[in-house]
Amino acid sequence: MQMTEDLIRNVVQQVLSQMGGSSPATNGKATAKPTGQWGIYPTADAAVTAAEAAFQEYRTRPYGDRAKAVECIKRICVEQAEELGQAEYDETKIGRLDHKIAKLRDAIPKAPGVEFLRTDNASGDNGLTLTDYAPFGVIGAITPVTHSLPTLAGNAINMLAAGNTVVFNAHPSGAKIAAEGVRRFNKAIQQAIGLDDLLTIIDPPTLESASALFDHRGVRLLVVTGGPAVARAALASKRRAVVAGPGNPPVVVDSTACLDNAARSIVAGAAFDNNLLCIGEKQVFAVADIFDKLLDTVSRNGGYRLNSSQIDALTKVAFKLGDDNALHVNKDLVGQDAAVLARYAGVEVPQGTQIVYGETGADHPFVEHEQMMPFIPFVRVSNVDRAIAMAKQSEHGYGHTAVLHSRDTSVMSKMGKLMDCTVFVINGPSPAGLGLGGEGTLSFSIAGPTGEGLTTPLTFCRQRRTAVIGSMRFV
Ligand code: NAD
Repeated sequence: MQMTEDLIRNVVQQVLSQMGGSSPATNGKATAKPTGQWGIYPTADAAVTAAEAAFQEYRTRPYGDRAKAVECIKRICVEQAEELGQAEYDETKIGRLDHKIAKLRDAIPKAPGVEFLRTDNASGDNGLTLTDYAPFGVIGAITPVTHSLPTLAGNAINMLAAGNTVVFNAHPSGAKIAAEGVRRFNKAIQQAIGLDDLLTIIDPPTLESASALFDHRGVRLLVVTGGPAVARAALASKRRAVVAGPGNPPVVVDSTACLDNAARSIVAGAAFDNNLLCIGEKQVFAVADIFDKLLDTVSRNGGYRLNSSQIDALTKVAFKLGDDNALHVNKDLVGQDAAVLARYAGVEVPQGTQIVYGETGADHPFVEHEQMMPFIPFVRVSNVDRAIAMAKQSEHGYGHTAVLHSRDTSVMSKMGKLMDCTVFVINGPSPAGLGLGGEGTLSFSIAGPTGEGLTTPLTFCRQRRTAVIGSMRFV
């Protein structure tokens, strides 16, 4: 038998546990640390126990070790982007390979780490008061299938920078790549700072394991990134939760907009990973004056326009009537290429087509549902106020993301106020709101419902105040 590194490690762990060996973290009590493999555990309980033991050691380490752990994750995402992106694509079978790679190689390095932490202070006649940002402990994190490894990696960077350890429960359809990421990150972190299990994952993940994580007493904070059902479950949980829920981002284009930029941006944002992103452009409301010109411009920028009977044919396949007698997005079409959607519409599109699109009414299923596929409905509207009102309605009050193309600052203010969204992108593609081509840091978890916004290390910290009375004032 070949003695792999994992096998040796496993044997050592088993021997240690049979001897009742203890780590400094367990204070000499018989160890409860289960035997895992680079952070991978079969149950929520085992993963939380391991993450708790790891936290007790991690909390004694200097900031420099946190920075090294973060660096390991970023380096692996960049250096192994092609292999990991391919693995995620092969497993999930949704989105675009080039963009899966870009999310790891180009986006993840922009996730904020230890440098984002700070100490705030108030200094005066009465002394010095410091506000420090301290870790919670073990965080339970639920991740979506749409960006299984990128969300996990982005969360891990923020959470480890803040000094926490994590238990992940991935979406079952993206579970293998999530576990592989945890395995690789842990190996590198172990080599860099000698600690294991800073990141753990429940494998295989199920709804039951997610629910066990929600309720586990060892979890100090829940972080949930996903659709309506899991967002509702997290909001109903007794545990404190950071909830990054669904969106249905509308775009408004008015008559002052640069149509070339608007068309290019809409195509780029909606085509990114075949529109899997929660911030991706999902429906467009354009004023009548420029409507036809805008649609022509989209076709010169990678869009292929469908006529109404082709849209009808696609719609019949893209939505299914559920047991509840309501329409639901057909998951088989989620994240598929524009060429695949076009075939359902009955046409072959030129190679390189980024999105398919066409004119629909405001009450069309493609407007009302978060379709997560690269067909974009364009709705003709008489004036910009009406366009903004329809945009608001189509967003369903999620308060997630909205996009505007306009050169009129009063329209910018009006739409910003009315939409009241966590992300509002003006005159650019939606990923610019994540810091990809726009300013600011990156996050794949946009916490709208609970108000934290784009998550950073500070999202995962407790504030602690230290007050020194009557001294430590130096000026
Ligand atoms: P999903 O809701 O099907 O699954 C998300 C995660 O929640 C998975 O790990 C899944 O296993 C788990 N889950 C689902 N229902 C659950 C329940 N009742 N209890 C416990 N766990 C449950 O979503 P998805 O298809 O993986 O991802 C797409 C959705 O996520 C879209 O709605 C998108 O807008 C949203 N999303 C939001 C953000 C954000 O930052 N706000 C980021 C990415 C995705």
